[in-house]
Amino acid sequence: MVITLRADATSQDLHAVEARLRDLGFQVVRAPSAGPAVLAAVGEGTLPPLDQMRAMSGVAEAQRIPFPFKLASRSFRSETSVVKIGDVEIGGKAVVLMAGPCTIESEEQMERTAAAVRAAGARVLRGGAFKPRTSPYSFQGLGEEGLKLMRRVADAHGLLVISEIMDKSQISMMEQYVDILQVGARSMQNFSLLRELGKTQKAVLIKRGLSATVDEWLMSAEYVISGGNDRVIVCERGIRAYETYTRNTLDLNAVVVAKSISHLPVIVDPSHAVGVRDKVVPLARAGIAAGADGLLVEVHYDPESAICDGPQSLYPEQFAALAEQVRQIAHAVGRTL
Ligand code: PEP
Ligand code: MN
Repeated sequence: MVITLRADATSQDLHAVEARLRDLGFQVVRAPSAGPAVLAAVGEGTLPPLDQMRAMSGVAEAQRIPFPFKLASRSFRSETSVVKIGDVEIGGKAVVLMAGPCTIESEEQMERTAAAVRAAGARVLRGGAFKPRTSPYSFQGLGEEGLKLMRRVADAHGLLVISEIMDKSQISMMEQYVDILQVGARSMQNFSLLRELGKTQKAVLIKRGLSATVDEWLMSAEYVISGGNDRVIVCERGIRAYETYTRNTLDLNAVVVAKSISHLPVIVDPSHAVGVRDKVVPLARAGIAAGADGLLVEVHYDPESAICDGPQSLYPEQFAALAEQVRQIAHAVGRTL
């Protein structure tokens, strides 16, 4: 249930409403927005008749939240939430480009890629240090050394850093180097990781699982938010379908649906969605046209030699051309780059 107080509600009114909801067995969470207080009652409480709540002093409106995720829903926060990191706003008017290699390989690789993506307009450098590989024999990532290297390079170019976290034991180490902790598609329902991320104040980007419904995906976000961290971004990265020409299938439906029922910023990752370099650019354009708040794109200065995901990595020139197109599309849909 979400309760909106009147602009002239007193602090006694607010406390009385909170106390009533707690007596009914709910936890009470206040929306961080300015203006009249908006409260969500979450948890296993007993829902009172709405009219009873509406009759309380200072209450403007009481509504059920018609979704299993409560704090991630637009019923709770009608405005898109903006995740601000330094001077970068994810979920604001400007769409945000995040780009870089699948995996951190070397200083030279990160340096050349960072310089190129920054010049094209990216604000966030991506690169995995812990890779969730299908085969235990494949390269697993450079670990902390890789993160140190990426942080150095990103700072030199004025970029933020996003990197995947696989286990809750990595949180305190990764927090030192990373601005956005990426929860991979395969970890989307690692609930103990999500709970621990709720205790941090780092931005968290949750990729959609390969076969997750939109509700399941947003419930993963709810784990983090309900734990106390509302700096959550979600990312559509393609779902598994029966098609064999492409790696996965970019589900733009999910982008549009998530944007309408949730206030969280939604990012599109066209690289893992399609898995084929020359198909990444048109799908990236489509993501922005569909209303995504940004893109997460794999770029490598020499994709032929990439250790991981070379066939889907863009050449820097392709990324620069994409950024230019995104600028125009963003403008057409009332956004900027
Ligand atoms: C990645 O971003 O490199 C990655 C492994 O993504 P996903 O979790 O979407 O497969
Ligand atoms: Mn990859």
